[in-house]
Amino acid sequence: MRTRPIDAAWTAETWGWPRGTGIMGRRPLRGSDRGSDHTARTGPSVHFSGHTEGVTEPCCPPDLTTRSACPQCGAVATPVDSLTVRALVTPSALKRFLPGSFCFCATPACGTVYFSGGQQYLTTDVGVPVWQKEPFGERAVCYCFGENEADMRREIAATGASAAAARVREHIAAKRCACEIRNPRGVCCLADVIAAVKRVQA
Ligand SMILES: [Zn+2]
Repeated sequence: MRTRPIDAAWTAETWGWPRGTGIMGRRPLRGSDRGSDHTARTGPSVHFSGHTEGVTEPCCPPDLTTRSACPQCGAVATPVDSLTVRALVTPSALKRFLPGSFCFCATPACGTVYFSGGQQYLTTDVGVPVWQKEPFGERAVCYCFGENEADMRREIAATGASAAAARVREHIAAKRCACEIRNPRGVCCLADVIAAVKRVQA
């Protein structure tokens, strides 16, 4: 069983996300949309060392550094922990699951969500709507706390701004997130929430 603690200190030190904030991503950036340690996990490359493909699944995450092209649309897809795949595909899809190094395809028009080798899981194989592949307007972009475009729009209309990101940050600080098994992308949704507010405001 996986016993890793899900806390910011662990994620910053262990996952070592380089994206955007680089090493600064390990510290909260006040007044910045870049957020906290938690957001550091949204980067594209993590590294687990000392694991062998297959044998250590499912107790140890595989190497998540390898990006691959989606077999359906050809776009470069981001690695995702197989735990996320197992947690989010439907029961019938899970029955054909095989351990592997999975990637998540975010291409809106592509029906593939996860793939690894010859395995492919489509939007119809995933138990929740994958917002990247849904039409803009009402989408829930935060799978832990339900922040969504419809509420953002109402909030902006009523108050001139959306506090969605601030709310998510509070939940992150309280260690309430379960992004690994709730968000189809398997990572913190804060950056997605921030981007969604901007889209809705535009
Ligand atoms: Zn694709």
